[in-house]
Amino acid sequence: MTLPEKILIVGGGVFGLSTALSLRERHPTLQITVVESAPIPNPHGSSVDTSRIVRADYASAAYSKLANAAIQRWRATAWGAEGRYTQNGLLLVYPENSASAQAYARQSYANVRALEGENVVFLPSKRDVLGVVPAYGEDLDVAGGYVNWGSGWSDAAAGVRFAKQRLDTDGRVQFKRGEVESLLYDSSTAKPKVKGVSLVGGETLHADLVILATGAWTGRLVDMRGKAVATGQAIAYIKISDAEQRELENLPTILNFATGIFIIPPRNNLLKIARHAYGYRNPVTLPVPGANRSSGESMEVSMPDTHAPVPLEGQEAFRDALKQLLPRFVDRPFVTTRLCWYTDTPDSPNGDFIISYHPEYDGLFLATGGSGHGYKFFPVIGDKIVDALEGTLEPELRDMWTWTEPVSTEAATDVIPDGDGSRSGARDSILKDELAKTAKASRTSVL
Ligand SMILES: Cc1cc2nc3c(=O)[nH]c(=O)nc-3n(C[C@H](O)[C@H](O)[C@H](O)COP(=O)(O)OP(=O)(O)OC[C@H]3O[C@@H](n4cnc5c(N)ncnc54)[C@H](O)[C@@H]3O)c2cc1C
Repeated sequence: MTLPEKILIVGGGVFGLSTALSLRERHPTLQITVVESAPIPNPHGSSVDTSRIVRADYASAAYSKLANAAIQRWRATAWGAEGRYTQNGLLLVYPENSASAQAYARQSYANVRALEGENVVFLPSKRDVLGVVPAYGEDLDVAGGYVNWGSGWSDAAAGVRFAKQRLDTDGRVQFKRGEVESLLYDSSTAKPKVKGVSLVGGETLHADLVILATGAWTGRLVDMRGKAVATGQAIAYIKISDAEQRELENLPTILNFATGIFIIPPRNNLLKIARHAYGYRNPVTLPVPGANRSSGESMEVSMPDTHAPVPLEGQEAFRDALKQLLPRFVDRPFVTTRLCWYTDTPDSPNGDFIISYHPEYDGLFLATGGSGHGYKFFPVIGDKIVDALEGTLEPELRDMWTWTEPVSTEAATDVIPDGDGSRSGARDSILKDELAKTAKASRTSVL
């Protein structure tokens, strides 16, 4: 499929920048513009943080293979240079009595063992796990797991900065700062066509093709009910001493598959603990977007609140996890907490991305649905997105990522499926309610 001349990418995170890099590479004569509402790297975007795990450890063979291709680039090209990638290993553990976590670990072990061979070691008992992370101490409450020394982590702000600098080197991709308020439609044809965007403030930008790489904010611009939902995920940081930094900095990342809790080795005396959970929703009422926006219809959808702290519920989950994994830090205060927003895909148990033309509009393509695992694919996802744009994406990925049916709002649900069983927390947490409980608890503790 021939791509049109003028392409507008909305969003300057992993999906948007990676698309721009691949489009520029493959089609040097196209006019490509990236419009982003924040400075890049956007500290509130989900692509930007101190660290993101880079692993091929998936029970799904397709993601495992794609992640392995990305890891080759993190390891051996400029993507991973200058501290952007550290190969410290990933220790995947499961507690007693968690059949689903054990089953995932075994399937994931088989996939990565086939890719990494001797780099991957099965650890059938707690003693074997402790042999890998003695610093975690005898109180470590796990039944077994495996370690993959071929996995690592990336400095996520540095990764985004690197991609942006690459794009800036020759100026072939234009950047525009602005917040897209709505899409512009030509409704004169049977299938309406997107012809550009309107920015907050009234400016319009016209394009032959608009690619939305707007992450957890996508539901403002397109009706994503049932397809994508923004869920707030908890992160907290603990200050540690120089001696603790030295002791922990070269350990593998530990991921408890039963609780979704993970701890990435510290940098700059900050230890990060995070949780892969069902997450907090932040429902807001918005006009239903689309070619019929003027109808006045409204909808309730979850949108990111990037300034809220982690509610008490999340902080307590971290304390419980520390009790299990690193008990000596259990009473150490969190110096900072953050909610980072996943773009979850409720119709897909495997957290499949949405990389697809829109089923109802010509000239509109979506590259989103990161579902908490998109960062690692930064060096390769743009190529897959451009394959999908050109209609040459390999069938397995195409079937996983294509959006075929229009949204049926009556049937739409934003309930996240169980998936691989690694998510924790409540399924129906509303951020506002959890923050109210947090405020009440802090008032009670003062009295
Ligand atoms: C807590 C947490 C932990 C994670 N851990 C991992 C991990 O360990 N490994 C891994 O591989 N992945 C991980 N992920 C997932 C990964 O970070 C995401 O899948 C990926 O970064 C998503 O990229 P994106 O481009 O879709 O979104 P974003 O980075 O959020 O980019 C979207 C951009 O679009 C812009 N935008 C939105 N709306 C508009 C508008 N209307 N106008 C203009 N600009 C707009 C936003 O400002 C934003 O910068 C994690 C995510 C979170 C939240």
